[in-house]
Amino acid sequence: MANVKCKHCGKRVDKKNAIKEEYITNTLKIANRYFCSEECKKNFHYDKTIKVEFYSKCSEILGAEITRNAYFKKRIKEIENTKLMYTYVDRYFETLFERFKCEINRIEKTKTINLNYKIAVLINMISYGMTKYVNDEIAENYKIENEILKDYIDYENLMPRGKQVKPRKTIFDEGD
Ligand SMILES: [Zn+2]
Repeated sequence: MANVKCKHCGKRVDKKNAIKEEYITNTLKIANRYFCSEECKKNFHYDKTIKVEFYSKCSEILGAEITRNAYFKKRIKEIENTKLMYTYVDRYFETLFERFKCEINRIEKTKTINLNYKIAVLINMISYGMTKYVNDEIAENYKIENEILKDYIDYENLMPRGKQVKPRKTIFDEGD
């Protein structure tokens, strides 16, 4: 029995039960990919979308197109959970952008820096922020407490626009 691998979760499924999708490869050929379920197909496309978003947001923050930047790619490979990274950057884009600008301004007061240096700063901020994000059980309460920036940034005003900090739930609260 012919079976195929789900492009999203990697599970092997009988070819006749798999969801087939045609796509155009980088070399402009038509190829097929298979999914074990509609759910996996949806997740696969979602992941692709947030990856594209991630690159475009990082380009915006850095003020340079980094989609094909080798150093950027090398640095993001060091981050294990790429999906979490995409989600984190998507969610805290504005905060990250503000902090990045402040940090770069601070550094540029003392020396001239190049794009790779800026990339390194951004990747460090992302990986540091992600750790905090994960460590906080309630993501809505997320707040970066970056030691380097502590002296000159008002944290309260750097929350993503339109987001309210909800008070932490206590065991006395009902519902979810
Ligand atoms: Zn699957």
